[in-house]
Amino acid sequence: MRALLLEQQDDQTLAHIKDIGSEQLPDGDVTVDVNWSSLNYKDALAITGKGKIVRNFPMVPGIDFAGTVRHSRDDRFKEGQSVVLTGWGVGEHHWGGLAEQARVSGEWLVPLPNGLDERKAMIIGTAGFTAMLCVMALEEGGVHPDDGDILVTGASGGVGSTAIALLAALGYRVTAISGRDSNTDYLKALGAKEVMSRDGYIETPRPLEKQLWAGAVDTVGDKLLARVLAQMNYNGTVAACGLAGGYQLPTTVMPFILRNVRLQGVDSVHTPLHRRQTAWERLAGILPDSFYQQATHEIALEQAPATAAALLNNQVTGRTLVKIR
Ligand code: NDP
Repeated sequence: MRALLLEQQDDQTLAHIKDIGSEQLPDGDVTVDVNWSSLNYKDALAITGKGKIVRNFPMVPGIDFAGTVRHSRDDRFKEGQSVVLTGWGVGEHHWGGLAEQARVSGEWLVPLPNGLDERKAMIIGTAGFTAMLCVMALEEGGVHPDDGDILVTGASGGVGSTAIALLAALGYRVTAISGRDSNTDYLKALGAKEVMSRDGYIETPRPLEKQLWAGAVDTVGDKLLARVLAQMNYNGTVAACGLAGGYQLPTTVMPFILRNVRLQGVDSVHTPLHRRQTAWERLAGILPDSFYQQATHEIALEQAPATAAALLNNQVTGRTLVKIR
C-alpha cells in the first residue's frame, strides 16, 4: 500500500511516498481502507517538520481520514461500513490517514452520519469539526443570532471558512477578519456580511474598547485575540481554538471582570465520543451544498508535501482534500 512516510535525517523531516506492507501498520482493532484525508494546519507543521508534532519516526502523518472498514475486531464496526476519524493523536503518535490503510482503535472512530459521504466528511475534516465545536461553544455561552455580530478570525483557513458557513446558515451575522484582500469575494460567498483587513487590526489594544461583537471564533491567538477580547459586548463569548498568529495572549482581566466576557477554549483531539457524534450530525444537517464546492481544493497524495509548505506560507484558501485512492 502507498503511504506518505515521514523520516528524520540530520534533524530534518523528509516526506516521501513509499510502498509499505500492511503488516507494518500499528496495533489496533479496526483496519480501514482510507479513501480521503485532508491537510490541516497541524498536518502542515508535521509534514514540513516546522512544528514539533511528530517525535517518533518513521511516521505516517494525517490527523484525519474517512474510509471503509476492511476488518474489525470491534463489534460496533463491520466490514464495508463508512467511518470518519479525527484527532486522538493519530498522525502525531499513531500512524495516520495519509496512506491507503490505517489501523486504529475502534474507540476513535465515528460512523458517518446520514447526509455525509466520505468525501464530504473530509472536506469538513478536523478543521470543520473544530469549527462546529466552536459554534457549539458560542451557543452554550448563550450567544443568539439576534444578539449582534460574530467575528471569525483566520477567516480564509479551514476552521475559519467552515465557521463562517455554519454561522451564516444558523442565522448569525458574520464579520470575517482576513489578511488577504483577494479573498473578500470568497468569504462573502461563504456567508460573511463584512470582511475586515487583518492589517491594522493587530495592534496592542486598550484594555477595553468599543463593544462590537456578541461572539467570536478565534483561530489566530496572540495580539489579535487580545484585541477581540477588548471589543466583546457585555456577556459575549469567544471560542478560541488556534494559534495561527502565535501562542501568546497579551491581554488584561478587564473584559472578564467588567464585561462578563467568557473565553472558551476548544480542543478537538480529545472530544468525547458523544459530543463528536453530535457535532458530526449537526455538520451534516447545517452545511449547505454550496460550501463543499466553494471551500474545497482537491489534491493527490503526491502533492501533500508541497501543499503543506504552501499552507504554512498562507497561500492556501479553505480546505485541502487529499484523494488517497
Ligand atoms: P489554515 O492554515 O487553514 O488557516 C489559518 C488561517 O489563519 C489562514 O488561512 C489565515 O487566514 C490566518 N493566518 C495565517 N497566518 C497568520 C498569521 N501569522 N497571523 C494571523 N493570521 C494568520 O489552518 P486551520 O484552519 O486548519 O487551523 C487554524 C488554527 O486552528 C491553527 O492554529 C490550528 O492549529 C488550530 N486548530 C486547532 C484545533 C483544536 O483542536 N484546538 C483543531 C484544528 C485547528 P487569512 O489569510 O484569511 O487571514
